[in-house]
Amino acid sequence: MAADNKDRLGNKIHDVEAAREDQWARQRDAELVEKMRERLSHIACPHCKQFLVAKTEGGVQMLACPKGDGAWLDSAALKAVLKEHK
Ligand SMILES: [Zn+2]
Repeated sequence: MAADNKDRLGNKIHDVEAAREDQWARQRDAELVEKMRERLSHIACPHCKQFLVAKTEGGVQMLACPKGDGAWLDSAALKAVLKEHK
């Protein structure tokens, strides 16, 4: 009985630790996304040197030149586009 209670307490502590790790991971992810956004917002178009702007076209997220010279797609978005056009 005592050992059983100890196991339950151990499980509870494990749950609390797992929840804390989840929260920590979520916060770290949010910080990484924010950093990436900040960095990406400072990427300039190689043609006209204006900063790229985030936009979604046909359901695909991209960073595009405001003058329409071109767009940056991350590899996941590019793969999705290529797959759709096969
Ligand atoms: Zn441009």
